[in-house]
Amino acid sequence: MDRAVVSGRGEARWRRGHPWIYRSDVVERPSCPAGAVRVEDAAGRVLGVGLWSPSSEISLRMLAREELTIGGDFWADRIGESIGRRGGIEASAYRAVHGEGDGLPSLVVDVLGGVVVVQLLSAGLEAYRGEVVEALLTHLSPGGILARNDVRVRAREELPVEVELLWGEVPEEVEVEEGGIRYLAAPWRGQKTGVFLDQRENRLLAGRLARGRALDAFCYHGSFAVHMAPGADEVVALDSSGEALDRAAKNVALNGYDNVQTLEANAFDQLRAFEAAGSRFDVIVLDPPAFAKHRATVGRALAGYKEINLRAMRLLEPGGHLLTFSCSYHVAPGAFMDMLVSAAADSGRTMRLVSPLTQAGDHPVILQVPETGYLKGALLRALD
Ligand code: SAH
Repeated sequence: MDRAVVSGRGEARWRRGHPWIYRSDVVERPSCPAGAVRVEDAAGRVLGVGLWSPSSEISLRMLAREELTIGGDFWADRIGESIGRRGGIEASAYRAVHGEGDGLPSLVVDVLGGVVVVQLLSAGLEAYRGEVVEALLTHLSPGGILARNDVRVRAREELPVEVELLWGEVPEEVEVEEGGIRYLAAPWRGQKTGVFLDQRENRLLAGRLARGRALDAFCYHGSFAVHMAPGADEVVALDSSGEALDRAAKNVALNGYDNVQTLEANAFDQLRAFEAAGSRFDVIVLDPPAFAKHRATVGRALAGYKEINLRAMRLLEPGGHLLTFSCSYHVAPGAFMDMLVSAAADSGRTMRLVSPLTQAGDHPVILQVPETGYLKGALLRALD
């Protein structure tokens, strides 16, 4: 196995439990192409094995703290362990591997019923594509495996940004079941891997809270809306994407509900229009896309979050619930809470914090690896 020598700073990161070593901390670069390499300190002590990405800023991603052979058995065992940690999930769609959160850096595996959608997000990992596919076939026996490798981080690894069928057949739409609700996911063309699995537990919560008039803002294919339909009298499912709303309408019909109205609009404008019209809701979900894609845009993102939250608070009936989220990694949980305090202060409402909310348990967060956690949220209730 080829070797990389890392600086004291790089070594310290691994020892603290963070799996990444940056380019500036690699003092001797391996000469081999992307793949697994032995990692040593300057004195030649073996620190472990890492995935080597020659062109990335993240040069090494730790796989093990000892020198192991990284072959088919390694991937089968690690992936099997990750799947083994899932259990008791009330859904046919779940995340089987959450990258660094499952000790499998840069690998995402989502199960959507009988098909699997993967993302291979580093050059080092891409070198083991065959072994990963083999392991998934062994453990999950899917009808097809699709790579949603159309993500920008792949460009930084000098990897093609594309969607590719890796095995079998994957249909345009796949029906999944989640806590008694059914919906169609779009693995080839939908956002992310075709479905937002990180919100599963929060959608079940929204279903339990639903009553009266409900609003699912930034609804995508309406999965919160469908969960709220049985408990609510009427639901408004709002999104700016017509394609997502077409599927939302199909998802509503699939479950036999007729009390969901889809509305194609910019949520910023529509929330203001609802306020101007004196509309009120008993439950509101705000699940916007990541407003802060980079650290530099956090300030502007927080202003956007505050705007929609302030409006939503004003739209609540007395006693109404707001489930509000941010999936921007760069917006820290504390900053998100501060934003909510500020929105509540300006809303003129007394808002109770019922509980903080987070990503579903199959998206594990490692304390020392903050990048594994990105979804934060809160369940709020208007007291007056
Ligand atoms: N709640 C969904 C996921 C939402 S993803 C679920 O649980 O499945 C965010 C959605 O916001 C996307 O569907 C995107 O089309 C939509 N969106 C982005 N900007 C918007 C805007 N300004 N107004 C309304 N919708 C917007």
